[in-house]
Amino acid sequence: MSLNDFVLALDQGTTSSRAILFDHAGVARASAQQELPQIFPAPGLVEHDAMVIWRDTLATARAAVEQAGIGAEQIAGIGITNQRETTVIWRRDNGQPIHNAIVWQDRRTAGLCEKLRQAGHDKLIQERTGLIVDPYFSASKIAWLLDNVAGARGAAQAGELAFGTIDSWLLWNLTGGPAGAKALHATDATNASRTMLFDIHRQCWDEELCQLLNIPMVLLPEVRDCAADFGHTTKDLFGAPITIAGMAGDQQAATIGQACFKPGMIKSTYGTGCFVMLNTGDEAVRSQNRMLTTVAYRLDGQTTYALEGSIFVAGAAMQWLRDGLKLIDAAPDSEALASGLDSTGGVVMVPAFTGLGAPYWDADARGAIVGLTRDSSIAQVVRAGLEAVCYQTRDLLLAMQRDAATAGATNNLVLDVLRVDGGMVENDWLMQFLADILDVAVDRPAVTETTALGAAYLAGLQTGLYPSTEAIAAQWRCQASFTPNMAAGRREQLYDAWREAVARVRTVA
Ligand code: ADP
Repeated sequence: MSLNDFVLALDQGTTSSRAILFDHAGVARASAQQELPQIFPAPGLVEHDAMVIWRDTLATARAAVEQAGIGAEQIAGIGITNQRETTVIWRRDNGQPIHNAIVWQDRRTAGLCEKLRQAGHDKLIQERTGLIVDPYFSASKIAWLLDNVAGARGAAQAGELAFGTIDSWLLWNLTGGPAGAKALHATDATNASRTMLFDIHRQCWDEELCQLLNIPMVLLPEVRDCAADFGHTTKDLFGAPITIAGMAGDQQAATIGQACFKPGMIKSTYGTGCFVMLNTGDEAVRSQNRMLTTVAYRLDGQTTYALEGSIFVAGAAMQWLRDGLKLIDAAPDSEALASGLDSTGGVVMVPAFTGLGAPYWDADARGAIVGLTRDSSIAQVVRAGLEAVCYQTRDLLLAMQRDAATAGATNNLVLDVLRVDGGMVENDWLMQFLADILDVAVDRPAVTETTALGAAYLAGLQTGLYPSTEAIAAQWRCQASFTPNMAAGRREQLYDAWREAVARVRTVA
């Protein structure tokens, strides 16, 4: 192994902090992980201790390097990927957060968002940021902190505070924190695009939106490309400085890890929920179906856009079948149960546990299992839970295709392959059914750690380990490909039954 042949990916997620050391071939050589405690101060509120996030990140990074038995000087660069939108504000002089981090799931700012909508600001916000007004994004969380933490607004105006999503928070600490005059307060275009303050077309913070939310712009980090010079770690952290060279939010990093670099390429991550991202090239396609328009990545100053849609309940339905109904012992058991049947016998599950997302957007809808008879079995119900993930993916892809067509997107957006990752994709039966229902080939990569891999690729691009995105794309390996193999009549019949079941649970037309 030659010198500088490794990249270190820091993957700071909602439930854990992980560090993975990749070699130049994109093979994971060492990794370390720590669970992140969740703080629930009241129903609907979710917080993290930002100091714990920083300490865990550093500890896992050190553990991975130590495990690999290499020196810091052998690491070409660090790539950071993170849970998106989660908001931290800290004091620049001592590095102390002024409050726990407010996590993306937190709903405390629903009222403020409702006010923005009622005042008719949603149109401007969607135009500039590509987002729908929602507590999910950082802007209303920043506003809440400034309004509710004693002295915060004054300190913010005086330039004493810094805002960051988790990427910025980690970067600032890695590059020196309060002790280092060189501590870098920066973020990348993908993370910036999730704040609801960033103009995705002009690629800069939007003064008007900041004014609207009463957020002083001195709080905000500088926005750089995803592969860029983000400074270096202070010497004390790893024994020698390491360049920080890559940064992207988790779903964007997964898109890069899946090498979806061309318009029309699409990845879907199947974990607890499911996130679909469609590369739309240099066109920011405006959605009519409340999909998000977002930055897929920015390289060499060139922005590539994406449409993003999510399914709230994917693997979570398996968790419910396991822990709630106790129909299965473990999620992987679903595969044998489903593949032992020809069909669900007409049973359809709509797992709208927390409402229906795109393209229905019905927050008050609740789940249902329809078509039950005396013959209905555990296996049929479990299979219906898996099938629902596939029907919902088709709902999303159809909405994205409609958006692209309505917007007159000129980039070639023919969806012919779906690249998948996440815990659920180990289920071969599910992947085949997905291909059948979408009538699109489903490719499962050899490396399913796509989020961390994406961060490593970005750092590798910047440090010269990879000459181009083409070189990265050439490295992407398919582990298994699932080709559609269902008669069109059956596919449409099943999908119609799904649409009918959804219609029964909807509270708004
Ligand atoms: P997250 O990153 O959201 O925590 P993961 O990507 O680790 O999720 O995926 C875990 C989810 O996948 C769980 O909800 C689990 O129920 C589901 N899952 C794991 N293996 C299988 C399987 N073989 N078949 C179906 N679902 C599975």
